[in-house]
Amino acid sequence: MTTRRVPFFPYAQLFLAEEKALTNVMQDVLRRGAYILQKDCREFEQNLAKFLGVKHALGVANCTDGLHIALRAADIGSGDEVILPSHTFVATASAVHYAGATPVLADCGPDHLMDPASVAKLVTPKTKAIMPVQLNGRTCRMDDLQAIADKHKLTIIEDAAQSLGAKYKGKMAGSFGLAAAYSFYPAKNLGCFGDGGAVVTNDDDIAHKLYCMRDHGRNHDGVVEMWGINTRLDNLQAAVLNYRLAGYENIIAHRRNIATWYHERLHGLSKLTLPPSPEKDVYFDVYQNYEIEAENRDQLKVYLKEHGVDTLVQWGGKAIHQLDALGLSSNLPQTEKLFTRCLMLPLNMAVTEDDVEYISGLIRKFYP
Ligand SMILES: *Cc1c(COP(=O)(O)O)cnc(C)c1O
Repeated sequence: MTTRRVPFFPYAQLFLAEEKALTNVMQDVLRRGAYILQKDCREFEQNLAKFLGVKHALGVANCTDGLHIALRAADIGSGDEVILPSHTFVATASAVHYAGATPVLADCGPDHLMDPASVAKLVTPKTKAIMPVQLNGRTCRMDDLQAIADKHKLTIIEDAAQSLGAKYKGKMAGSFGLAAAYSFYPAKNLGCFGDGGAVVTNDDDIAHKLYCMRDHGRNHDGVVEMWGINTRLDNLQAAVLNYRLAGYENIIAHRRNIATWYHERLHGLSKLTLPPSPEKDVYFDVYQNYEIEAENRDQLKVYLKEHGVDTLVQWGGKAIHQLDALGLSSNLPQTEKLFTRCLMLPLNMAVTEDDVEYISGLIRKFYP
């Protein structure tokens, strides 16, 4: 029997695949001594804004900081409640907590994303914002969330960490709300070699505040105009991101191909629920993750591991309301059920059709 080794995310291999080009990009920056807020960062910000069709994009040190300063720029803080899904990275809730507001956790729908019906039930007089998380490379049902926001005059700030380039009804994830943040963590669809992020908005006033807040409160003239923090995107990372953004369409296309390969080989198995396949409909998904639901999930995970295939349960297996240290426990039946079943199969730029064939064969063998 063939034994393959399919790592979940081969960090070094993905650098080596483009070593020469990436080394040239970095050497060029280093030789210019251009480290902080230099032209590479500005160019990346312009290209990113253009790609997304938004007015302003600003590089920040990571997505978490981007969400944090977006909340602060929108005057969301002490006494305010912000509704977000429990099925997300702890960072979404931390950004709200450190802005001084209270995270309120919503249940998920069958698509694993924030369920608008659950959100509607959580609105109180203290609710100030909704923070949809565009999870797994897919966009939430933004028109339903927008309707709730309109009805109660709530601000929408999107956590688009996982969904650069995803679309809903032709509009980019991250371009729906007042502001949004993206992550360029190495394993994200557009990854750099360390931490990186961006925050975007179409609002000129918010953009100005974000510009100042990410750099010690300093405005375009270097004058301190307000309180700020240091959350700049390193110029070296920006240069890498700018290089990779130029080829991002190919990255999306390959990820969508992998999703198609999985779908072709795994659909129809009664013990599995698959993510939607990349058909043309109101969703354009970019497959940051391929998160399936599986019966006997834990045994399947062990079986795949024994045969050389690494898988991952998102967030270490716990939704935010299940993180005891944070004290946000809540009754979210859909999310709880999902967390006994969810599993992410390898999906990255190194995964080949042969890998998918091998993994799918194992899964078919596992379920007699
Ligand atoms: C990765 C991720 C973040 C955090 O991004 P950082 O750049 O590491 O701060 C936030 N939310 C979600 C949904 C993520 O996947």
